[in-house]
Amino acid sequence: MAEVLVYVDHVDGAVRKPTLELLTLARRIGDPVAVALGAGAENTAAALAEHGAVKVLTADAPEFADYLVVPKVDALQAAYEAVSPAAVLVPSSAEGKEIAARLAVRIGSGIITDAVDLEAGDEGPVATQSAFAASFTTKSRVSKGTPVITVKPNSAAVEAAPAAGAVEALSVTFSALATGTKVTSRTPRESTGRPELTEAAIVVSGGRGVNGAENFSVIEALADSLGAAVGASRAAVDAGWYPHSNQVGQTGKSVSPQLYIANGISGAIQHRAGMQTSKTIVAVNKDAEAPIFDLVDYGVVGDLFQVVPQLTEEVTSRKG
Ligand SMILES: Cc1cc2nc3c(=O)[nH]c(=O)nc-3n(C[C@H](O)[C@H](O)[C@H](O)COP(=O)(O)OP(=O)(O)OC[C@H]3O[C@@H](n4cnc5c(N)ncnc54)[C@H](O)[C@@H]3O)c2cc1C
Repeated sequence: MAEVLVYVDHVDGAVRKPTLELLTLARRIGDPVAVALGAGAENTAAALAEHGAVKVLTADAPEFADYLVVPKVDALQAAYEAVSPAAVLVPSSAEGKEIAARLAVRIGSGIITDAVDLEAGDEGPVATQSAFAASFTTKSRVSKGTPVITVKPNSAAVEAAPAAGAVEALSVTFSALATGTKVTSRTPRESTGRPELTEAAIVVSGGRGVNGAENFSVIEALADSLGAAVGASRAAVDAGWYPHSNQVGQTGKSVSPQLYIANGISGAIQHRAGMQTSKTIVAVNKDAEAPIFDLVDYGVVGDLFQVVPQLTEEVTSRKG
């Protein structure tokens, strides 16, 4: 069976969920060969093997942490040349997309970004994308070179599929461009203890209906009862009630969780663009005519300050 390269996103050896999802998709196309770079790369092997990696190519060097993406592109290209894969899959983070795009240019291949599904096809993998503010679903395949495809988080289930996961050292020669942009400082974001918005399985969002920064505690309480991330509409962000890093939509983040709960959000097209591919959508809105109700699986017409605390209480009591 053909091999498929999977670029591993990890933090000091802890593999992030979108990479495990990529392994599920890679197994539909061929045998996944994982590429893990940087500090702790070798520690990724157990998790990757458990989810189907037949091989784990690892490399560590100070360049991966000290410079922006080019050293990683050099390494992924070295893996590509060593393996001659049927496809290269990369998680659709900002960094992942830059790495994938640079690799595609170098190897003269077509690229598909932000795929939400992937299946094997007679002429190569077929990727599903959600286009034009999620108004269209397209299927496409790369017609030139080795397909390079970035896949959005939550596009597939994480599935255990034990494989050998044999660790092999990847030999990387850094290009002249590798040290062009140096990282001069790092400031970790203050942790909220909640999952990362774009990777969360559940997102609870608040909009203008939340009516004030202080009231976002109602949204946060529901999110915490569900182990969810907190999102916000642009109206709530522009009003200064919640940080821009939590904005969902066309000019914010794109999320595709298993469950999206929109509270006091009308459902403008620009908001829908960032959440319409969520698997199950629930809305709480006091206006029965709000456009958000056109796309929900479950809708509650009511005042969020009445509904959301009851929901939080019910979720909490069922957990106990
Ligand atoms: C170029 C461009 C890019 C944009 N990008 C984004 C984007 O990335 N993300 C985004 O979200 N928007 C974006 N917008 C803005 C978008 O058009 C809307 O203005 C915005 O999404 C509205 O936010 P909202 O739904 O919170 O507010 P509103 O449209 O004002 O809706 C508030 C809703 O809350 C309900 N409500 C009020 N009080 C309560 C209550 N007590 N209980 C229950 N329901 C209540 C109301 O019935 C109403 O439906 C963009 C706009 C443009 C032009």
